[in-house]
Amino acid sequence: MIEIRDARKTFTRGGLSHEALKGVSLRVEKGDIFGIIGTSGAGKSTLIRLVNALEKPTSGQVLIDGQPLDGYSERELRAVKKKIGMVFQHFNLLESKTVFDNVAIPLVLDGRSKKEIRERVTELLAYVGLSDKAKSYPKELSGGQKQRVGIARALANHPSILLCDEATSALDPQTTQSILALLKRINEEFDITILIVTHEMAVIQQICNKVAVMQNGEIIEQGYVLNVFGKPEHPTTENFVRTVI
Ligand code: ATP
Ligand code: MG
Repeated sequence: MIEIRDARKTFTRGGLSHEALKGVSLRVEKGDIFGIIGTSGAGKSTLIRLVNALEKPTSGQVLIDGQPLDGYSERELRAVKKKIGMVFQHFNLLESKTVFDNVAIPLVLDGRSKKEIRERVTELLAYVGLSDKAKSYPKELSGGQKQRVGIARALANHPSILLCDEATSALDPQTTQSILALLKRINEEFDITILIVTHEMAVIQQICNKVAVMQNGEIIEQGYVLNVFGKPEHPTTENFVRTVI
């Protein structure tokens, strides 16, 4: 479960400050596929980075399974971060490492044995349909295949939460479909809660049960996808709905 309570985030650079999050609250329940949609600069990535403790809120709180992130020692923070996998728009694979070694990274960092690593990576690559690519390098893969590697890596340590920041934005519509189907399967089979940031309505409609619409650092509407998009209350939400009609 992810809970964000009145989170604010101000970035200050060269004497200028910008409030990227202006008091955001949301609750993602176990098993949800929760979408965050909004136009560029709305604060979506900032929000997801708070959940991963890559950024700290200026004020407010983030709780993972009821535990606040801010009061943590380094060790406790690592334990919480192990619960969370992250998938990126541009895959963030290491070009100099093979597919196998990319997926193995979190396991190596976690100090697993060679045997454990071999077994887990083999299992993960089979799961994402890339068993035959173990020895390939990222540059030899298509975008969709690279994202499958990114997803396998994110799952390596058996996270209970998967965060996806524009995970399909660099992909064509057909590849997007197959990646979304994979995410849905992961949610159902492993009971992994997914928080997905996107600017594409199709992503929300295809796999999310709940959605929050963001604009200028605020959530302007949130709830079940059917309710929010069935009866939009805010013009920005209406605009998103119009993009798919
Ligand atoms: P996009 O759809 O383009 O990815 P977004 O909704 O993810 O946009 P954010 O990346 O969260 O938006 O950015 C929100 C605002 O905060 C933007 O105005 C951005 O310029 C600013 N911002 C984000 N990160 C930083 C940073 N590290 N330093 C300064 N400003 C930042
Ligand atoms: Mg972003």
